[in-house]
Amino acid sequence: MALPIAIMESIYREMVRYGLSLLPEEACGVLSGFRTAEGIWTADRFDPVANLSPEPRTSFAMDPAGLIPVLHAAAKQGREVVGFVHSHPSSAPIPSDPDLSTSWHTVPSHWILSLQTPSVPTAGVYRYFRDSSGRMRYEPLSFHILPDSL
Ligand SMILES: [Zn+2]
Repeated sequence: MALPIAIMESIYREMVRYGLSLLPEEACGVLSGFRTAEGIWTADRFDPVANLSPEPRTSFAMDPAGLIPVLHAAAKQGREVVGFVHSHPSSAPIPSDPDLSTSWHTVPSHWILSLQTPSVPTAGVYRYFRDSSGRMRYEPLSFHILPDSL
């Protein structure tokens, strides 16, 4: 029962640009948007949030002072938080153990942007959940990049 997720092409590019601009450190931020009548989460906005991790090349910790206003603004405007994003400067777009243990798993999706080959960025999108034994797990979600002209 994987949820369908979509992102506007310009937002995808913006997210990639931001990730590249922070290399060799991990970048993070929030995707927000809406849910279509068919139930498809659609991201049409990306807000970068500063990475406060003491080891920003291998981990991320979203600055609450940046994150909270983004969440408040989204709620005030009736927008949905579609997902949290972070980049992997030198590894595959797969959640690490710390990613799973420190993330808020209540958001619909977690996006990982792999920039290990900066000219060919790749993204992985996941749903995090707790299994019956209480362990954090993830399952991949498929996503679509929508042309902005739609
Ligand atoms: Zn990670």
